[in-house]
Amino acid sequence: MKETTMTETVEEFRRRARTWLAATMPRLEDAHSTDDDEAHWRRARELQRMLYAGGFAGICFPQEYGGLGLGPEYQRAFTEESAGYEMPLNLNIPTFSICAPTLLDMGSEDQKRTHLPAVIRGDEILCQFLSEPSGGSDLAGLLTRAERDGDTWILNGAKTWSSSAYAADYALCLARTDPEVPKHEGLTMFLVPTKAPGITLNRIRMVNGSTEFCEEFFDNVVLPAEAVVGEVNGGWAVASRQLYHERNAVGGGSPYVSGRGLPPTTVYSTPVEVARATGSGADPLVRERIGEWLATSKVLDQLVARVSHGVAAGHLPPTATSLLRLLNAQASQLSADLAMRIAGGYAAVGQGPQMGTTGRAAVGYLMRQSASLGGGSTEMSRNVISERMLGMPREYAADRGVPFKDISRTRGAR
Ligand SMILES: Cc1cc2nc3c(=O)[nH]c(=O)nc-3n(C[C@H](O)[C@H](O)[C@H](O)COP(=O)(O)OP(=O)(O)OC[C@H]3O[C@@H](n4cnc5c(N)ncnc54)[C@H](O)[C@@H]3O)c2cc1C
Repeated sequence: MKETTMTETVEEFRRRARTWLAATMPRLEDAHSTDDDEAHWRRARELQRMLYAGGFAGICFPQEYGGLGLGPEYQRAFTEESAGYEMPLNLNIPTFSICAPTLLDMGSEDQKRTHLPAVIRGDEILCQFLSEPSGGSDLAGLLTRAERDGDTWILNGAKTWSSSAYAADYALCLARTDPEVPKHEGLTMFLVPTKAPGITLNRIRMVNGSTEFCEEFFDNVVLPAEAVVGEVNGGWAVASRQLYHERNAVGGGSPYVSGRGLPPTTVYSTPVEVARATGSGADPLVRERIGEWLATSKVLDQLVARVSHGVAAGHLPPTATSLLRLLNAQASQLSADLAMRIAGGYAAVGQGPQMGTTGRAAVGYLMRQSASLGGGSTEMSRNVISERMLGMPREYAADRGVPFKDISRTRGAR
C-alpha cells in the first residue's frame, strides 16, 4: 500500500485520486451486471483490494489499523472523483460505515489490529445481529442470551433482518448476559464468526424479489472470551455507539463510505428519470412536484453537512444523527411516491432486466417502507429527537429499573 502523508492538501490528494482512478478502476458503463449475489460480493472484495493496492482504502481510518488517517474532506474528495467508476458500494453499509467504526470506537486493541486492516484490505465483511423476531425497536429487551461456561460463552437465540449476513465473515451480535439486572445493564456485544458451528442462517425473500435479508438461529454457539466487544454487561454502550454510526450512515453523513450512493441493485428510478421516460416533463403539476422533491434533497444535503460538522465539533450531541435518519426517510419516500405517481400505468410494464425506468419506479415503491425502518424506525427517531435533543419528557416505560427476568413478556417469550 502506498503511503499518504498529512502534508498532501485535499486538492493534491484529489488530483492524485483522479489520475489513479482513470488509470485503474473500471468505468461504470463497462461494469459487468449480474443477478448473481455471490458474484456481486466477490466483485466488491476485488474492488476493495484494488483501492487498497492503490493506497485509497480506509481513508478516514487511523494508519495503525491499516487506514490513511485522513479527515472526512479527503474522503469526500475521493468520493466525488470516483462517481463515474465501479466502486465496492456493497461494503459501505454496514461494513465500513457502521460495524468498522463501532469496532474502532469500542473494540479491544487486539480486535482493532485484527479486524480493521482485514476490512480495509477487502478480506473481511461485517454485519449486524441486533433485531430479533420479538421486535427491533425495543433493542434492549432482546432475548438472545449468552451464558458463561468457564473461559467461553454459549450463545442461544435468534436474530432477524440482518442485511447481507450471508456474505459476511463476522457479525456484531448483542446478547443478554445477565437477566438479574434491568434490561440495559445485562447486555454484552460479541463479535461472532457468521460460519461458527451452531449457527443456522436462512435467507428471507422480500417483496422486491431480493434475498439480501437473513435470519439466524444460534444453538449452543461457543464463543471465546476475546469475542466480547467492550465490557461484559456493558453492551448497551457499544450498541449505542453502533446505533449512532447506523443513523449517520443511513442518513448519509458517514465519513467512512467509499464511493457515492448505494449498490445498483438497491437504486430505483428517480422522479426526473420517470418524467423523462414518460414524456411528462413539461406537465406543470409534475414540474411543481419535482421541484418540491429536489428542494427536499437539497435540504437533506445541507442538513448532512450541518449535523456532521456539529457532531464533530461538539456543538450537537451524537443523537442529532437521528435528524438525518428522519429526513432521509422522508426524502426517500417522497421520491418513491412521486416516481410511482408519474409512472402511472407504465409502472406495471416490464419485468426483470427489461423492467425499464417505470418498472424500476414500481419496485422502488414496493420498497418505500424500508426507509422508515432500516437504521431504527421513524417513530423511534422521533422519540430520540424529542427526548434526547429537545429535552421533552421521556416516554413511560413499565420495565424501567425492573430486573429483566421479572418483566412480563407477551411476544416471543422464552
Ligand atoms: C432495510 C433494512 C435493513 C435492516 N438491516 C438490519 C440489520 O442489518 N441488522 C438488524 O439487526 N436489523 C436490521 N433491520 C431491522 C430494523 O432495525 C428493524 O426493522 C427496526 O429496528 C424496527 O424493528 P421491527 O421491525 O421489529 O419493528 P417493531 O419494533 O416491532 O416496531 C413496529 C412498529 O411499532 C413502532 N414502535 C415500536 N416501539 C415504539 C415506541 N416506543 N414508540 C413509538 N413507536 C414504536 C415502530 O416504529 C414500528 O412502526 C433492517 C431493517 C430494514 C428495513
